[in-house]
Formats: sequence, C-alpha cells, structure tokens
Amino acid sequence: MGKAWEYRNNLLYLEDVALDEVAERVGTPCYVYSSQAILSRYEAYDRSFGEVPHRICYAVKANSNLSVLGLLAKVGAGFDIVSGGELFRALRAGANPASIVFSGVGKTREEIEYALESGIHAFHCESEPELALIESLAARLNKQARVALRVNPDVDASTHPYISTGLKEHKFGIDIGEVEGVYDRARSLRHVRLEGVSCHIGSQLLNVDPLLESMDRMLALVERLRAAGLPIQSLDLGGGVGVPYQPGDPEPSIEEFIEKISQKAKGRNLMLMVEPGRSLVAEAGVLLSRVLYRKRNGAKDFIIVDAAMNDLIRPSLYQAHHEIIPVRRDERRGAVVADVVGPVCESGDFLARNRHLANVLPGDLVAICTAGAYGFVLSSNYNSRPRAAEVLVAGAQYKIARQRESYEDLIRGEQ
Ligand SMILES: *Cc1c(COP(=O)(O)O)cnc(C)c1O
Repeated sequence: MGKAWEYRNNLLYLEDVALDEVAERVGTPCYVYSSQAILSRYEAYDRSFGEVPHRICYAVKANSNLSVLGLLAKVGAGFDIVSGGELFRALRAGANPASIVFSGVGKTREEIEYALESGIHAFHCESEPELALIESLAARLNKQARVALRVNPDVDASTHPYISTGLKEHKFGIDIGEVEGVYDRARSLRHVRLEGVSCHIGSQLLNVDPLLESMDRMLALVERLRAAGLPIQSLDLGGGVGVPYQPGDPEPSIEEFIEKISQKAKGRNLMLMVEPGRSLVAEAGVLLSRVLYRKRNGAKDFIIVDAAMNDLIRPSLYQAHHEIIPVRRDERRGAVVADVVGPVCESGDFLARNRHLANVLPGDLVAICTAGAYGFVLSSNYNSRPRAAEVLVAGAQYKIARQRESYEDLIRGEQ
C-alpha cells in the first residue's frame, strides 16, 4: 500500500500536513499518524473478503489511542482486546460491545466480569481453568458467554522469537492435539456457548504461508468438531500480515492474503475473523524527533536525539529496524554512518546502530518511520521522561490526539 509519508519539495508530509509545522507546534518527540492510511488499510481488509461473512477486529494493543480507535469504530471495525483497560478504551471510543473479542492468556476475574457486563461478542479462552472461571462468573451474572477456544496449531511463524506464539513451547492457546477433549468436556457448561475456534501464531509475518498452513489445520479441526456435534460458527485466524520496515523487506499484500483465506472459507458456512493490528497502523505513523547533539567516541559517530527507548522500544527490544529520515531533505549535506541514540541512561538506548543516514545536524528534525504500531503503546516513563504527544492527521488538518505528559502527570498518584 506504500508508506503514508512523502517528500514534497524536500519537506516531509503526512497527507497534506508538513511535519516541521507539527513539530514546531506540538514539540518533540511526537508521534504522528495518518487517518487516511489507517482507513485505506482497513478498507483493503474489508473489501477483499468479498461475499465471505467476516469480521475484522482491530488489535487494540498495536495502537490504542482513543482517536485511532474512534476512527475505526466509525467505519464499523470490531476490536480485539487483551485487558480490561483496552475494553475501557474501546468502549470510550464508541465501539459496539458486540464487536469486541477478548484475547489473552491471563484474564482476571474482574476483567471477565467487566467484559460480561459490557456484553462483548466473545472470549477467546486459552485454558480449561479460564473456561471454568468464565462459566462460574457468567452463571453468577446470569449471562451466556460466547467463547472460542484459542488453539495452538503448532505452526512456526518464522518471526522474531518474542512475537512468535503458535508453537507447542509457547504459553499461548490450547494444544491442537488436546483441544477436542476440552470442547467435549465443555459441553456440560450451561453458561458458556462454544461457538468458535481461534488462533494467532505470531506477529510481523512477512511470508503468509504459515498463516495459510495454520488455517488448513484449523479448518480440519472445525470439520472434526462439527462432526462431533458442536455448533462451530466462526474461525478467527488472529493477527494480520507483517509490514516492511526497511528497504528490501517483502511487502505482504493484505488483499492477496485475505483473498486466499476467503477462498478456503468459501461455502463452509463459517464466519471468518481476523485481528490485524500492525498492518493497519504501522505504516500510518512516524515518530518525530529533534537532533540534540552530534558526537564522536573513538571511531564511532553518534547522533543524539530527543526521542529514546522509553518512547520507542522496538529497536532495543527486538533489534527492530526503523528507517530514520530528515524532515527537511538537503542532498548537499551528504550522509554519515552513525548510531542514533536517545538521552536515556542505558547503552541499550538506541534507535539505530551503524546506520547509513542523512548527515543531520543539531536542531534538525528527523522522522523515525513505520512507528504507528507498537510504538507509543510500549512507551514508558523510564528516566522520568514524560511520554510523547500523539497527533492524528486528516487531509490538511491535524489534531492532538494525546497531549504530551507534564511533570505533574509523572507523579500523579504518588506521595
Ligand atoms: C498481537 C495480537 C494480534 C495482532 O497482531 P498484529 O501482528 O499486530 O496484526 C492479534 N491477535 C492476538 C491474539 C494478538 O495477541
């Protein structure tokens, strides 16, 4: 689908908004997202299902800003949540509770009650003890809980080990070899309706073959469960495709992936669900930062910027690559090889290492690209750094979607 940012006369834009203006007005570091980019990706998912009954549940954890959620709620997206806090956010943003699915391996009693009382669509349940807890809480509230068991299909997603989730050795889901027994034993539960199956084998998959393989295993499971008399109505395949972070990365097509899975689901009387997070928002956003200093230690060049690992932890946590480009491009400046680092007191605080990039100087603005997913949501106050502002662009307009935190915000609730 291409990136959301582009140069016009050597100045970086998101839609029709020049990013130097945002940085001047809002300050740095600052996340900026394009609503058009998010919506066009959502529409690509939606359109590609064709006639196949489907539901797209945006994975809130990728970017849970209220304005982003509101944008998606307005066009009819469902939501995949993994905590009570995410449920609160989704409802605040105007989500239809009946469009929400609740995933996660460690739901608490309070979270389950909150979800039951809110009338969410379904729980994606990850163990028998969780199933028993849902049954007892639903009984007490006199409700019926719709449940899909999360199956671990034992497929290798071939992605970073921290975001690979579909192998037997992982904590997620119920082993595909054991799940039929769980469905069978759950027939006696009076307040749980086991209507679906779900899985999620990992994130940032640049090759969709493991997803298709996982779907084949899940379809075979659906047939076996139905043959055993269980009224399975939906299959949830989990997260969406990966996104290219650096030049040369493959660019999985949302359309091709959805067309392939829709083809497999055709004529099976099955509601097909997906829970894309990253692929809706990653390429819609950048993190703006200002260069503070340049320095050289021995043979190494450092570009010290005002964004740090507390703002964007992906490079430190996953050795992730984010392109870093100047907001104002000037070819005459040339290029350097440098580490781009933040002010945090950790050697692990880097945004790029040994990176060939534009020769930016103190005072210059840079954009850290493809930062719309797992960016702000993973940020922290480490080193007592107030968290960054977030901005949402629409056409030539932009609004502050989240104010920069103040020092007072830092100590709220402390004494
Ligand atoms: C993280 C997660 C997703 C979203 O994955 P993306 O790769 O961001 O699309 C979807 N479903 C579940 C259960 C998840 O844990």
